[in-house]
Amino acid sequence: MVPREIRVRARGKVNLGLGILGKRPDGYHEVESVAVLVGLADEVAVHPVPYGIEVLCSGVPGPPEENLAFKAGRAALQCFRAPFGLRISISKGIPVGGGMGGASADAAAVLKAAWMLLGEPAPRETLTEIARLLGADVPMFLLEDVTKEGRVSAFLLRGRGDEVRPVRSRDVPEIYFVLVLMNFPVSTAWAYARWDEMFQHPADRRTTDFADPRIPLIIDALKTGDARLLGPSVFNDLEEAVATDFPVIREVKQVLCQAGALGAVMTGSGSTVIGIVTDPAHGLRVCREFRRIWAEERGHSLKKSSSLPGRPGIKELVLVGRSQVLGRCTLS
Ligand code: ATP
Repeated sequence: MVPREIRVRARGKVNLGLGILGKRPDGYHEVESVAVLVGLADEVAVHPVPYGIEVLCSGVPGPPEENLAFKAGRAALQCFRAPFGLRISISKGIPVGGGMGGASADAAAVLKAAWMLLGEPAPRETLTEIARLLGADVPMFLLEDVTKEGRVSAFLLRGRGDEVRPVRSRDVPEIYFVLVLMNFPVSTAWAYARWDEMFQHPADRRTTDFADPRIPLIIDALKTGDARLLGPSVFNDLEEAVATDFPVIREVKQVLCQAGALGAVMTGSGSTVIGIVTDPAHGLRVCREFRRIWAEERGHSLKKSSSLPGRPGIKELVLVGRSQVLGRCTLS
């Protein structure tokens, strides 16, 4: 019997390291990155309907057919020759254009749901192939980051970001982040084009070892579970390119560190900035101190910075672990 509905909690990701190895002849960028899933999530509900695909998703600009979840539903139905259609409802918790992979997470959720509704009609590799066609970030979101045995993964991403290898460890303990959500999106295509203007060089593609020496430092730090080692190792090669047009990103990083975060970095192509903290209590102290410095020392009017249209500012601080949101602090 076909289930009536499948609900998936689609968590976002943060990149702890993002190295750009160069531009490839095919126009894509060769990257090496470490990413982890975090507790800020979209809720995706998928119902079988007699025919067609309907997407209900507020907060995402453009027609439903442009939603990556719609494209994922269409691809899955075609590939698996489904005898029914899908109604997809998405409640966004992941910021749109925030560098947290929300569109890709939703697409992966729809692929998984369609696959389950159809009674797992193909090997998982087929899903990965469809995912890769939808977008470079989608394959990562098909993987579970905690195994039944309690092994926890970070993901090592290579190629366009679509070659995913779980970095598993029994010892990776919980990690905590303060996410600074901004009131503006950044287009990934624009960020890479900006990087091209500023730094472009051809890709130096290696197939063994780490091409970017900063990446193994992050993996080692994750395995020790020591936020004091992780904090100083985080990096993102896109950050300077994006911060040239959005200097507020630089300022948010500085204030996060001043507020006591052990390290801070922009995730993906922005606009979200993350601060590394040791535990929830530390995270709450960083949030409070951030708010104070932002208003009192930096002289930003919190109301104005978050609500004036066209003026880049901060929307919200969110304290997360890998699976849950632990606290929120609005700035206005
Ligand atoms: P990236 O994965 O490149 O880091 P991002 O996290 O910065 O991307 P997303 O929120 O994943 O950004 O995608 C933003 C863009 O994708 C917007 O142009 C938006 O209109 C489009 N989009 C399509 N489908 C979705 C979706 N389900 N959720 C969010 N954005 C979507």
